[in-house]
This record gives sequence, structure tokens and C-alpha cells, in this order.
Amino acid sequence: MKRFDCLKALAAVAGDALVVSSAGAMTLEWNALHPSDSNFRVRTLGLCSSIALGMALGLPRRKVIALDGDGSLLMNLNSLATIARMQPNNLTHIVFDNEVYEASGSKKTATGTGTDLVGVARAAGIKNSLWANSGEAFALAVTSAMKGGELCFIGAKVSTERTQVPPFPLDEVENKYRFIRHIEKTEQIEIFKTNLPASYV
Ligand SMILES: [Mg+2]
Repeated sequence: MKRFDCLKALAAVAGDALVVSSAGAMTLEWNALHPSDSNFRVRTLGLCSSIALGMALGLPRRKVIALDGDGSLLMNLNSLATIARMQPNNLTHIVFDNEVYEASGSKKTATGTGTDLVGVARAAGIKNSLWANSGEAFALAVTSAMKGGELCFIGAKVSTERTQVPPFPLDEVENKYRFIRHIEKTEQIEIFKTNLPASYV
């Protein structure tokens, strides 16, 4: 299965969901398919699931999607226990498992030697955890996750094939400000409460 095809299926149903993604080529592919200020790229390996959990808890009426990789999730497996404990029904956690640390030279991860991330998620307490074993199954799973009101974890075994797309167009600071301004506007809430310095007025 090709990650880009799965992302296409997700782009068709993601709507105005906030999408928090792990560093790496996946984020570039996602942003090429679904460019939006609702995309937030997390550069620190491992943290996208925890950051997505915080967003889901802080914005309980908004769909939040975590786009994770196997290397990233393996670095932060305890997030699964915390997500299961908090049970945010607006969070969809997707992991694209290509069994390698793709961005750092394609060394094998533990999923390549048998660790089953969906099994780990289920055992952590996320009942609605499943492997999507085909493009059709993935499309069905994300469609159902976007329509439903239940925490879910979707695993997809994908090839290591990358799709050539443009680089991510924003640095971390601009991405942060645009993302938060987008939430402020679409949720009609104020997040940045600090007044700008006088020289900016
Ligand atoms: Mg990987």
C-alpha cells in the first residue's frame, strides 16, 4: 500500500479537521494534497500523538487527526496509554507503518521485527483500533472515523515509497502562528492573549 494513496483518501474526508503530523516526508505529501492552515507539523520525533491529544481535549467539538509514523510512535508509546485514559472521542490517530526510520536513513524499526502497533493501542485501552489492510479498507476506516464520534486508532502498513512533492512551505514559527490564528478564527476563541509590543501597533 502506498502512503500517498492513503493520504488522498483522507484528504477527501478530512474536512476542517485539525491535522497534527509527525516530521518527515508524510507531512510534505499531506500538505501537497491538502494545503491548509489547519495543518501543524511537529518536528520533534514522537510528540505528534501527545500534541494531538492536547488539542482534542482543548477543542472537544473539533475533529483532530494525528498523522504518525512507526518510528515516531515507538518513541512515545506511552501516549497510547494516556490517549486511552483520556478517551477523546474527537481524536483519530493514524499511523503509517513502513517499518523503517525513513527520514534518517531507513534503518529498521521494531515493527519490522514484529511489534504490532495496533495490538499495542488496543492493549493500552483504545478499543476501536484496527489495521487497514488495503486502500479500500483505509478509505472506509477514515470515512467512518470522520463521521463517528469515537476515539479511533488506524494502522496502515505502507511501502517505503515517497512521492515527489514540494517542500513544506513554512518554518516552525510561521506554521505555529498561522495554525493558531486559524483555530482562533474558526472556533471564534482567543488564544494569543498577549498584546503586541507598542512598536508593532
Ligand atoms: Mg517509518
